[in-house]
Amino acid sequence: MEQNLFAALQSAATVRDRTLATTPDGRSVTSVEMFSMARRCARVLVELGVRPGDRVAAQIDKSLEAIALYLGTVAAGGVFLPLNTAYTRQEVAFFVGDAEPRVLVATPVRSEELVPVASEEEAHFETLGAQRDGTLAQRLVEAEDGFEPIAREGDDLAAILYTSGTTGRSKGAMLTHANLLSNARALVDYWHFTGDDVLLHALPIFHTHGLFVATNTSMLSGGSMLFHPGFDPSQVLADLPRATAMMGVPTFYTRLLARPELTRELVAHVRLFVSGSAPLSAEVHREFEERTGHAILERYGMTETNMITSNPYDGERRSGTVGFPLPGVEVRIAEPETGRVLDVGEIGVIEVRGPNVFQGYWRLPEKTEEEFRDDGWFVTGDLGVIDERGYVSIVGREKDLIISGGFNVYPAEVEALIDAIPGVAESAVVGLPHPDFGEGVTAFVALKPGVSLGEADIEEAVAGDLARFKQPKRIFLVRALPRNAMGKIQKAELRETHSGAFVP
Ligand code: AMP
Repeated sequence: MEQNLFAALQSAATVRDRTLATTPDGRSVTSVEMFSMARRCARVLVELGVRPGDRVAAQIDKSLEAIALYLGTVAAGGVFLPLNTAYTRQEVAFFVGDAEPRVLVATPVRSEELVPVASEEEAHFETLGAQRDGTLAQRLVEAEDGFEPIAREGDDLAAILYTSGTTGRSKGAMLTHANLLSNARALVDYWHFTGDDVLLHALPIFHTHGLFVATNTSMLSGGSMLFHPGFDPSQVLADLPRATAMMGVPTFYTRLLARPELTRELVAHVRLFVSGSAPLSAEVHREFEERTGHAILERYGMTETNMITSNPYDGERRSGTVGFPLPGVEVRIAEPETGRVLDVGEIGVIEVRGPNVFQGYWRLPEKTEEEFRDDGWFVTGDLGVIDERGYVSIVGREKDLIISGGFNVYPAEVEALIDAIPGVAESAVVGLPHPDFGEGVTAFVALKPGVSLGEADIEEAVAGDLARFKQPKRIFLVRALPRNAMGKIQKAELRETHSGAFVP
C-alpha cells in the first residue's frame, strides 16, 4: 500500500476531477488544479533551497493556497510546520529558533515583524495572504508544473506540530507520512467518507483537527470541501444545506444551537456531525439531537497521536464518551505512576499504541522517553476509563491543561508571565466552565504587600506576550492562594469556589 502521503492524497483526490474546495466568496478549485498548485509550490520550495527533511514553517491565514503549501511542502520532501495565527512575534521566534526551518511563510501584514525573526535563524522569508496575495502567491502563478514529487518513505517526517508544554517549553510532535496516512485511512473507513461527500470545513488549519482530520480525510475520500476562512455561524448556516458532513469543536455546536435557523430541515442533507478537541457536554449532545435529529459523533485524539477513539458510525453514540479505539489503534488504561494495566471501570491514564502514534518530540529525546513506556505505549496524560461495553470516557486531564474554544492553554505559561509583573506575589491560572468557550482562562493573582495593581494592569501587562486565546478572560485579585499542607496550590478549590464565574 502507498506510504507516501502526497502520492496517496494526489491519486485519491484526482481520480475524478471534481471540485476539491469551494470558499464562501464563490471561488473553487478542482482536485487537478489543487494538486497542480501543490506541485508548483513544491518546485518553488526546492528552488528556495528546501531539501528532504527541511522544515517549512507557516503562520498564515486559512486559504486554498495554504493547503497547496502544506501539500507542496510534503511533495518537496519537506516537513510542514504550521503555527497558530494568534502567536505573537516572540512566540513565533521561539518556534523558528527551535525548528530551524529553511523557509518561514507569514501573512503579508506581519512581514515587518517577522522578517527579522527569519533572518536571525537564516530562514528564507516569504509571504502568503488569503486573497492570493504575497510573494509566495506570485511565485506560484509563475512556476511551471511538472514537478516530480520527491520520494519519501512511510517513516519519513511529513509534519511537526507544536503542542504547548506544561513547563513552559513547547514541544514539536514529529509526525510521519505513515502516521498521517494510516489515520486518514482509518477515518475514511470508520466514518464512511466517499467521493460524494461535501465536508463543511470551518476549523483552523494550523491544528491537527482542521489540517489532518478534516482535510486529509476529505482529500483521501476524493470528496470536496466547503472551505470557510473561519467559523462564522451565519456562513455555516448558509452552507449547511449543501453539506453532507461537518467537523467541529464543541463551541461550534453551542453557537449553532443559539441560532433559531438551525432546524432539522436545514440539515436534512447532512449525514454526519463530528465533534472533538474538547469534551462535548451531554446537554449540547441532547439539545442538538432534539433540534436536528442528529446524534453528534464524538471522537478523541491529540496532536501526538492523531485520532485515537471514535463513537461508532452505526451503533450507539454515547454522550460523555469518546467511543472505541479506531481500527488498528490500541488503547489501555494504566496506573499513571507504575504503568500497571487497569481493569474495566478503573480510572487511570489513557495509553495508546499504533501506526498513528508520533515519533517523539523534536530535539527532546529525554522528554520523548518520559512519555513512552518501555513496551512502546504512549502515555497521553489524559485520565480515562473504559466501560464493560468498551466505550472510553475521559474523566479529566492529568495535567492542568485548559481547553478554551478548542485550543490548549497551559496554565504554567500564563502564570510565568503574570508572576513576572512587578508587584505580583504569585498567581494560579485555571479553566472555569464557560458557556461559549468550554473553559475560560481565569487567573487568580496575589499582590505583594502595599502594591496597588488593578485587573486591567495585569491584563495589559501580559497581552503583548500571549496569543489572545491564552489571555485570561477574568482576573481575580486575592489576598493569598489556597495551599495544602505540602505547599501545593489547591487549584481544584479555586475551580470549585469560582465555578459560576462565567455563568450568564
Ligand atoms: P491537541 O493536541 O491540541 O489536539 O489536544 C489534545 C487533548 O485534547 C487531549 O489530550 C485531550 O485532553 C483533549 N481532547 C481531545 N478530544 C477530546 C474529547 N473528545 N473530549 C475530551 N477531551 C478531548
